[in-house]
This record gives sequence, C-alpha cells and structure tokens, in this order.
Amino acid sequence: MPDQLLSTARSIDLDVRRIVDAIDNILSDAKRPVALHEPVLGSRERQLVLDALDSGWVSSGGPHVSRFEAVVAHFVGVKHAVATVNGTTALHTALMVAGVSPGDEVLLPAVTFAATANAISHAGAIPHFIDSSWGTLGVDPDALALHLQNISELRNGILRNRMTGRPIRAIVPVHVFGHPVDLERILEVAADYRLLVIEDAAEAIGSAYRGKMCGSFGHCAALSFNGNKIITTGAGGMVLTSDDELAGAARHITTTAKRPHPWEFYHDQVGFNYRLSNLSAALGCAQMERIEEFMLAKRRLAERYLLAFRDVPGVRVMAEPAGGTSNYWLNTLILESQHAAKRDTILSELHQRQILARPIWIPMHKLPMYAECPRAPLPIAEEIHTRCINLPSSAFLA
Ligand SMILES: *Cc1c(COP(=O)(O)O)cnc(C)c1O
Repeated sequence: MPDQLLSTARSIDLDVRRIVDAIDNILSDAKRPVALHEPVLGSRERQLVLDALDSGWVSSGGPHVSRFEAVVAHFVGVKHAVATVNGTTALHTALMVAGVSPGDEVLLPAVTFAATANAISHAGAIPHFIDSSWGTLGVDPDALALHLQNISELRNGILRNRMTGRPIRAIVPVHVFGHPVDLERILEVAADYRLLVIEDAAEAIGSAYRGKMCGSFGHCAALSFNGNKIITTGAGGMVLTSDDELAGAARHITTTAKRPHPWEFYHDQVGFNYRLSNLSAALGCAQMERIEEFMLAKRRLAERYLLAFRDVPGVRVMAEPAGGTSNYWLNTLILESQHAAKRDTILSELHQRQILARPIWIPMHKLPMYAECPRAPLPIAEEIHTRCINLPSSAFLA
C-alpha cells in the first residue's frame, strides 16, 4: 500500500487500548476508584476547623470568614471579597448587584456547568447562549461579536435583542476547567456593546490572563469552593469585586438585607441568607495556605498527561491557552472529530479500570429548561461535547 494510504488508514483507526493504557499508567499509584477530582485535606484543616468549633463561632459571621475573605481578595488582587454558601449563590449575588434585572437577557457560553445558567435564571434573567472556541473551551469572542452584530441594536446606551425586544444586559464568561478565556477580546466586545461583565471564575482561582488573576477582570466575579474545586470549604463560594459600592451591596443582600443595629431587626429589601459559615471558612483558610502547592502539583499532573499524549495519533490533551496561565483544574482529552464516536468506548474502558473519567457537560441548550432560550449558532459547543473527556485531576495524583 502506498504510504499515503497507510497513514490515512491509521488515522481512521483510533488505538483505544493505547489511550486507556496511557491514562492507567499515569494513575498507576492511585487508589481505585480514581475520582475526577477530590480534595486534599490534612492536619492544618483539622486544626483550623477545631479552632472555629472551640471558639463557638460556627455560624455565618466570625473571624475565619473575615480572614478567608481577606486572604482570597489579596491572592486574586481585588479590593473586596464576600463569602457565600456556594458558587451558585455567589454568581446570583454578583449578577444582582452588578445590575442584572428580571426580564434582562444575559449572555453565557452553552458549554458550562448548569449553575451558570441557573444563577442567571434565579436573577429573573434569561440565559442567551454563545458559542465556544477550541482555543480556550470558553466564549469565542469572534462568534460573540458576529452574533451581537446580527441580532442586537444599541440605542440610548441599552443593547436590545431585536428578535425578543429584551435588553441584553451582561455577559458571563466562564474559565472552563481553569483555562482563562480570551479576556482582552471579550472585554473589548463588552465595552463596544455596553455589557456588564460578571466572570464565572468558579473553576479558575489561581488562573491568570496576561499576568493578572482570573476573577479580577469583570465588574464582579464568582468563585466556588465546592468539594471538587481547586480548594474547598465543603460547600462555599465568593463574590469578588474592586468596586466599593458593589461589594457593600453584595454583603448587604447576602445577610438578609439587615441594616446594622445593636438590637433592631430592620431589613430594607428582600434579602438572602447566603453567607458562608465560620466553620466552612476555617477550612478555606487552611486550604488557602496550600493553594500554591496544589497548583504546582496540578501543573505537574497536566504535564504528565500532555507528554503521554504528545505522540498518540487522533487525540490531544488540552493545554493552557496562549496568553493564559491555567490552574489545570480538570484535564481534558480531546478526540479528533473523526473519532468522536469512540468517546463512550474510551469512557467505558476507563470505568472498567475504576478510572472515573467523564464526558464534559451537555451544552445548556440541550437541557429541557433551557431549550427555548435565545442563542447564537452553537456548532463548536456541540462538537466540544462529543469530543472531550475529563480525566482524573486531583492534586494528590501528581
Ligand atoms: C462549580 C461551578 C459553579 C457553581 O458552584 P457551586 O459551588 O457548585 O454552586 C458555577 N459555575 C461553574 C463553571 C462551576 O464549575
């Protein structure tokens, strides 16, 4: 057979066994089953949680909450941080204080965790889905600009969807799996179209774009400290902003909108009970002492995956985007499009070896509650779903 035909034949046949073996080999020392992402908890976590317990400060408010907020704000490089019970409530709060109102449309990638779209819905707004890019797995700024050019009009400083008549108020870029999106271009488009920017940095604490931390770019940002994120408080989240007024508003509505007073219960709006407990914050303080260590370990693990698949035909591992530094929250194996049909075979073989790899999220517009939402053409979003597999990425696997 001529060489050319041989190489075509090879590219059609994906070596599933070789792929599964390569992953198994990297995880050979790990206890089975190997979960996608598990926390690293040690004596310092135990010590600080016991400190909080002994102090009697177990509920919302307390010294560990303030300390945790100060440490994270300093680490990300923002002026204010408001700790909440989870990332979803942090996003909900960020949207509300930034100025998203019921009946507004809010742009977001279709490829994200459901919480992004849920938080927009909780704010009474309508998710409006945008396509993603293979370069970052996040919002594609060109597709965003083209879509807005096609469907919107800017009048008196308000952007409207010409199809629905509703204001398009904000965009929520998501740093998917910790990979920073192309913030420069997205911020440019947002400025051109007068959009508020609320970063969903739930997966991106420690990631940076051109030397500046994710979570410090938008009007507000949200972090998550769920058990499967880079650092955890059990469940928890945080609103980040450098705007004094937005920070004040976030603190106020998350604590039942109660005006400070020595004894009176005076609440001046419909508030939320969204504040993080001191017990959880104590765990967060301990985790923040180790975040650099976790990030180094996660980078080492990512490098092993990248190296292992450098010369394997038909697949690659997602590397950090140009201009960005990823915290490598979750590693992602990407199949070439002609091999997409093999995704579930690979998943099934990995699960047989107790390696709990996962496909990435079903794009939001494919879920029943979001199927009728406004959206741009989403060809890449749909392709990303069929071609990507998340690999075990806990820091202790490095
Ligand atoms: C985890 C996550 C959230 C929500 O955080 P929770 O703490 O689980 O509420 C939001 N967006 C993205 C992209 C996430 O990964």
